[in-house]
Amino acid sequence: MKKIVICEKCLGKNLLKESPYTQLCGRCGAVIYRKIEALEFKTASLSFSALIFYAAAVSMPLLSIEINGKSSQLSVFDSVSLLSESGYVLISLIAFLILILFPFLNSSALFLFSLFKLSGSSKAKEALKLYTYLRKWSMLDIFLISAIVALVKISDYAFIEIDIAFGALVVFVVIETYLTKVIKPEYLWELLDD
Ligand SMILES: [Zn+2]
Repeated sequence: MKKIVICEKCLGKNLLKESPYTQLCGRCGAVIYRKIEALEFKTASLSFSALIFYAAAVSMPLLSIEINGKSSQLSVFDSVSLLSESGYVLISLIAFLILILFPFLNSSALFLFSLFKLSGSSKAKEALKLYTYLRKWSMLDIFLISAIVALVKISDYAFIEIDIAFGALVVFVVIETYLTKVIKPEYLWELLDD
């Protein structure tokens, strides 16, 4: 069956080749289809690694801040509960969902999808549906960028020590970005057509 793919960059229409490897847009040269070998194994190992780094990033302190001799540690959980303690209950709830719950469910759904697909279970479709929906709502990457901007701003008058969980958060965001940008849900849905 011939399939038409719209280029995300120039919106040009491209006819997908029969058994395509990586295919470029005929108009602007952007990648419109990427053939990824052993996709189930890759998504299984990447989403499993993401879950481990997620656990470290969320459970441990990201950094220690010292201002005027007073030192305190800050974790993702702390920043969410601080919001609620300051009276921003709704914002704290939204932060909990997009920074803690959805990133966890998102990586778990992808990991479960890979396991179900590898074991030939029909539940793979349900897990992929959940992943396709949740991936838009996982926003730890935005949290990381905001945290870096805030750190640069307060670094003039505070002593900041980065902890190991901050490194775990960076690795988690790199894995998630790779999963979002390179392994598109369309490729995963194609696995179910086989
Ligand atoms: Zn194009």
